[in-house]
Formats: sequence, structure tokens, C-alpha cells
Amino acid sequence: MTATRVLVLNSGSSSVKYRLLDMRDGSRLAAGLVERIGEQTSRLKHTPLAAGTGTREVTGPIADHDAALKAVAGELARDGLGLDSPELAAIGHRVVHGGRRFTEPTVIDDTVLAEIERLIPLAPLHNPANLTGIRTARALRPDLPQVAVFDTAFHTTMPESAARYAIDVETADAHRIRRYGFHGTSHAYVSRATAELLGRSPEEVNVIVLHLGNGASASAVRGGRCVDTSMGLTPLEGLVMGTRSGDLDPAVIFHLMRVGGMSADEIDTLLNKRSGLIGLCGDNDMREIRRRVDEGDERARLAFDIYVHRLRKYIGAYCAVLGTVDAVAFTAGVGENAAPVREAAVAGLEGLGLAVDGELNAARADGPRLISPAGARVAVAVVPTDEELEIATQTYALVGKHD
Ligand code: AMP
Repeated sequence: MTATRVLVLNSGSSSVKYRLLDMRDGSRLAAGLVERIGEQTSRLKHTPLAAGTGTREVTGPIADHDAALKAVAGELARDGLGLDSPELAAIGHRVVHGGRRFTEPTVIDDTVLAEIERLIPLAPLHNPANLTGIRTARALRPDLPQVAVFDTAFHTTMPESAARYAIDVETADAHRIRRYGFHGTSHAYVSRATAELLGRSPEEVNVIVLHLGNGASASAVRGGRCVDTSMGLTPLEGLVMGTRSGDLDPAVIFHLMRVGGMSADEIDTLLNKRSGLIGLCGDNDMREIRRRVDEGDERARLAFDIYVHRLRKYIGAYCAVLGTVDAVAFTAGVGENAAPVREAAVAGLEGLGLAVDGELNAARADGPRLISPAGARVAVAVVPTDEELEIATQTYALVGKHD
């Protein structure tokens, strides 16, 4: 029997998101989420998409990732999709930080595990959780190929001029300080899907991808290769996000330490969790912010304006980085759903060849679609992202037996 299934695992510190796909057509067989691992109130939500039956929920304590994955395996087995099936070709793991070492998806062995571990100082919250997921899955199916797909990999093609900060080179290198970028799986998928929407190959087009979710990042992609991205050493740099500040003068941090008496950890929390939209107006959900704007709420209006101002600066910057732009693609929760953000982001940019058609922009649709007026110099598109499918595709390309 040909093994055509791939299980994608995205392991967080207290959660595991998963999806099982059939790579013959990329269809979803099952998906789910285990939350609050290690607490009394853990919850497993499992949706057996192939079986067409409804979502099942299991609540009660799930002690650790090992127990979580075993519970997931149990639910999959109930639908005849058990992890012991010969149809399972591989497990693909999302790994947040691959440093400079991992430029491509990589089959995991002990050496690779050790290298991901060596990168923990660069992603102290994410890489340990990703590693736990990998170790647990390997223990469960030691014979099965497991592949790490890195959030940073797509950005490793950035030239040094974009990847380096202008600080002392020895200090930067000693501490591995450089711009790595994140959301790479999404930027890779969306830039390729945008080329496809234009009916051209990725090598032929220059695309600006705007991944606007709760986390947000922009990238400039020339001929299928990333040449700049807005997140840096960590996901804090760049656009205004749901709870992160994005760009700010680094001296703000010294000021908060010296004058505000705050510790490094307090400032870390402030900038990552209590800034961005939530810091500006108390809400980080764009739906709620738009509702408040429509009601005349001034703080929500200001938050929206600051968000859009930063976004426009990056669009302009990446037009300059690329020289010629074929398409601007909006993706993720805000990018795919918030028409007012898209409209405001390109308003008045006709000089750069950018415009949206009001009706096309307001229309709701599922797949990739153009929202620029017919004949526009630059295509503006909404291109839904699918990070799980991209991880599965990259995993399967590496290990799939295509006989
Ligand atoms: P993501 O991180 O890609 O899941 O995006 C989550 C964010 O998308 C939420 O915090 C909302 O701000 C935004 N979002 C989701 N649905 C909508 C919608 N229908 N309209 C506006 N914003 C949305």
C-alpha cells in the first residue's frame, strides 16, 4: 500500500494543533486541537473531516504532551485513521526557529534534534515546545520519518544588507543577532499561490505578502525568493500586531529601564503582550475595533490609523526594495477578512500602481481572488494562507514514496 497521509503537528507550550491530510489531493482527513495541557481543565477538540461526523470534545486533565498525543492518536484511531496505519507516510512538525542552519525542511534525526536545541536561546518559548512535540511523536512511531519545517527557512535567502542590523559585527555574531523573520511557511505558500492566481510561475513575479493575523509580518519576494521581511531577531519587529508593538526606537527600552524602573522581563511582556492594538485601544480583534470605529470610538480609530500607517510604510518600503511589483497579497485573519484594512492600506497609492476595486474588495469568497480594478499595473489579491497544507506538502515532497 502506498503511504499518502501526512500528520502535521504544531506543538506549543501548552497546546498541540494537528491536521491529518491525504497528499494525493491535499484533502483534510481530520483536524483538532489540544489545549491547556498540564492543567485540570485540558480539552481535546477533534474534527473527523473525512467521516463527516461532528466535532468531538474530550475534557479533563491531560498531564503532558505525551498524554496529549496519545489522546489524539486514540481519536484518530476511532475514525480508522490511527497513527499505526501503513498509509501514514510521515509526521511534519512546525518548528519556529531554524537559525541560519536550516534553510529547508529537514528529516529529523538525533543531530537535527540537537541543533534545534542549540537554537533555544533564539526562541526560548517556542523551540522547547516544538522539541517536546517531536520527541513525543518519535517515541510513538520511531520507525516513521519525521520532518521539521521551519518558520524561518523561507527568509534565509535574504541578502546580508536586509538580514544584518547596523550594529557592531563582532557583538552581533557572538550572540547570533540578525534578522531571521518568521511566518515563513505562510509567506512561501502565499507568494506561490499569488503567482498561480496570476497564471505565472513564481520565478517570474515579484510579490509583497502581507500576513496580517494576530501576529503580523510583511515580506518582499523576488522571483520566489524572500529578499526582505518585517520580523527580525524575534517576531516583535515590524508591523503593529494584535498585542505586539512592532518597530520602535530601541531607546524606549533603556528609557523604561532607567526612568520607568522596569525590568527586562516586564518590558518584554509590555512589548509582546500589552502593546499593539490591545495596548492602544484595549481590543486586539479587528472585528471589534471596526465595530467601535463605526460607533465613533476615538481610541479605536487611533489604533486603526496607527496600524494602517505602519502597514503603508512597509508596502512603500517593499515597493522600493523590489523595484517592480507584480502583486500585493493580503492573507491571514485580518488580511483575508478585513476589507476596511485592505482599502485603507492602499488608498491613494495609485502613483505606485496600487488600487482596490470597492466592490471586489467588499465581496466575500473562499479562495484566492483579485481585488484590484481590471487592467491595474499591480495586482492586489486576497490569498488565504494554509500553513498546515504547506508543512504537509514540504514534508511529503521530502519523504513521500511517489510510486
Ligand atoms: P490569525 O492569527 O490569522 O488567526 O488572525 C486572527 C485575527 O484575525 C483576529 O484577532 C482578528 O483580529 C482577525 N479577524 C478574524 N476574522 C475577522 C473578520 N471577519 N474581520 C476582521 N478581522 C478578523
